[in-house]
Amino acid sequence: MIDKTAIRALANQASYIDGKNLYQKGAVLGFSVDDTTEIHFIEATVLGEEGEEYEIFLQYDTTMKWMEDSHCGCEEYGTYSGLCKHCIAVLFAYEVDQKEKQIQYQMEKK
Ligand SMILES: [Zn+2]
Repeated sequence: MIDKTAIRALANQASYIDGKNLYQKGAVLGFSVDDTTEIHFIEATVLGEEGEEYEIFLQYDTTMKWMEDSHCGCEEYGTYSGLCKHCIAVLFAYEVDQKEKQIQYQMEKK
């Protein structure tokens, strides 16, 4: 399962902070994840600072704990090392989603 340390490792200093802010502002819309295999396919729309919408696709390998593939339509994407803030915002939503599922699973086992 992804955690904050893993998210930090995938970001750079600026995109980590900006991504966290975007997530906390509720800019991550239409989050969905296909987690039926070890590679999780994550899709979401992130609202930019000026109301623009970005489509994000992420493939997270839960065994290797590494980002297999990622895509964002913004201008910054791929221009520096680390994922852009939109991808990071989606990863924060993903972390919460996975945590909730784990809690649910543990409650069902009892
Ligand atoms: Zn982006």
